[in-house]
Amino acid sequence: MSTTPIGVGELSGRGPLVGVLALQGAFAAHEQRLTALGAASQAVRTPDELALVDALVLPGGESTTMSMLLTTSGLFDPLKGRLADGMPVFGTCAGMILCATEVLDGRPDQRGFDLIDITVRRNGYGRQLDSFETDLDVAGLDEPFHAVFIRAPYVERVGAEVEVLARHDDVPVLVRDGSCTVAAFHPELTNDTRLHAMFIASL
Ligand code: GLN
Repeated sequence: MSTTPIGVGELSGRGPLVGVLALQGAFAAHEQRLTALGAASQAVRTPDELALVDALVLPGGESTTMSMLLTTSGLFDPLKGRLADGMPVFGTCAGMILCATEVLDGRPDQRGFDLIDITVRRNGYGRQLDSFETDLDVAGLDEPFHAVFIRAPYVERVGAEVEVLARHDDVPVLVRDGSCTVAAFHPELTNDTRLHAMFIASL
């Protein structure tokens, strides 16, 4: 009986391939957290790379710049389509802004994916709290999660369908609707992989 060798990269047996949008911002740290968890990750900069992945992380950075680069790279429309079809997504900080249905203090030409019914105000924590760190109680986690906020979006409204997983001073900072989870902070900037693990477990 002849046998066919299974080549490196053979898809069978691996878990989902998690994309990380890598146009701008803190994408490398997300890739490190995914790698630490043993998850397969793929930097996404082109529509061809997007087609490979089963889920996507939208990193922090600058949402206006990402919006522009999403358009010039030709990724915006195919990505919007994949997200509308239910591809799981984990958006952090600027990634949260890209997923929100309503963005206050955005640039007029800034585009987003209209994916989760929240209103966010860009840089809404104001100058005093431009950047800060705090421990959050997160639904589903036994111990608090140390969260780093950097010029974070401030969630001013959440729709009735949206599940609030964590709040800071009563303001939602980690929310989910179906396959879309978004954080106002940067879970990739500490070594704590629990939120990435939660995302992978949901796939
Ligand atoms: N203020 C940034 C924006 O508007 C987000 C900040 C961040 O991702 N750390 O996109």
